Amino acid sequence: MCDVKPGHWYFRVYCSNCKKPFAFMQDLSGGKSHLIPYNYRVKCRYCAHLDSYHTSIVERYQHPAEPEDASHSVVEKGKSRGTT
Ligand SMILES: [Zn+2]
Repeated sequence: MCDVKPGHWYFRVYCSNCKKPFAFMQDLSGGKSHLIPYNYRVKCRYCAHLDSYHTSIVERYQHPAEPEDASHSVVEKGKSRGTT
């Protein structure tokens, strides 16, 4: 569990219970490091469901720099931008 800061990189997973994405660890390499295969045992910040997540399903994301966007969550993977 960690507090997300704008402009910083994080590792996140989708909760296996409530399906919400949440950051569980900061990526100090700024999105450049390669994760070694590992099962992270993390607790969901929304429903407190405890489960293990393999690195193959862990994704990396950069928290938006603008405070306006922060409340609106992060850019979804695979979703194209500029569809307004
Ligand atoms: Zn959950």
